[in-house]
Amino acid sequence: MEALLGKPVADKITTDLIKDVNALKEKGITPKLTIIRVGNKEDDISYEKAALKRCKDIGIHVDVKVFEKDITEEKFIENIKNVNEDKLTHAILVLRPLPKHINEDKIKHIISPNKDVDCFNTINLGKLLEGDKSGFSPCTPLAVIELLKYYNIDLESKNVVVLGRSNVVGKPLSILLLNENATVTICHSKTKNLSGITKTADILVCAVGKAKMINKDFIKNGAIVIDVGINVDEKGKLCGDVDYDSCIEKACMITPVPRGVGSVTTSILAKNIIKATKINENII
Ligand code: NDP
Repeated sequence: MEALLGKPVADKITTDLIKDVNALKEKGITPKLTIIRVGNKEDDISYEKAALKRCKDIGIHVDVKVFEKDITEEKFIENIKNVNEDKLTHAILVLRPLPKHINEDKIKHIISPNKDVDCFNTINLGKLLEGDKSGFSPCTPLAVIELLKYYNIDLESKNVVVLGRSNVVGKPLSILLLNENATVTICHSKTKNLSGITKTADILVCAVGKAKMINKDFIKNGAIVIDVGINVDEKGKLCGDVDYDSCIEKACMITPVPRGVGSVTTSILAKNIIKATKINENII
């Protein structure tokens, strides 16, 4: 059984991006990301820290705008419009979910599609659906694809089962897999005979948010298991949706949690930032 670690994937992407950033800097362009955070949620701060570190390593400038958690929707929209207009900002990351009084369905249409590096705007989601590579794919689903490619796992004609259908992970990931010519089955909380379906998977991707829900009874011998989940187990330790110790008996490859998919996500964010920089500076 091979553990599919995220670090080598992230390192390779980072090395390539440093070259891109150096070339941009020679043209007098410094890529810049503006992160927009409302309140001080622990999850947001931890992702923000990881993004800041990755961007610093690559040479991307980051500005973090933090708003009070009771900021009005109107004021929030005004601030997003200002960042859209800011010529020095090439990329915008709005940390989600936003507080309930701010309507995400409204916000996603306001963020500039050309700066929308986590595929929040439906224009980018539409491009994803059409397989139009000029848009931005969301970071976590794209991290899964990059990880599979790094480990030379061919997706064409493979039976891939995706567990979870959220707009941030499950659905966009299923489309990306389909665009790679995989045969994709999507499961969710209303799926019947779940283990019967997951056992057909050559590649099983879990994005459910339930600690260690998937054990060896859900996979076939020789399956490749990709664990997107980030949960806390009964002992307070970080774990995925997959019971790693149980699945290693049958799987041929698994991503661990931590040190798996999550380690790749910020490097994909950086990749999208560089793409946004080139788009906004009319280089591509
Ligand atoms: P959501 O809660 O939005 O979606 C969970 C999905 O799992 C839903 O589609 C839900 O079905 C489905 N589901 C829930 N219970 C079951 C069940 N018993 N059987 C089958 N399907 C089920 O979560 P997210 O998609 O946002 O995140 C999923 C996981 O990925 C979380 O652990 C999250 O922390 C992690 N994550 C990791 C990232 C990374 O970088 N590694 C980034 C983002 C998220 P239904 O639609 O019917 O409710």
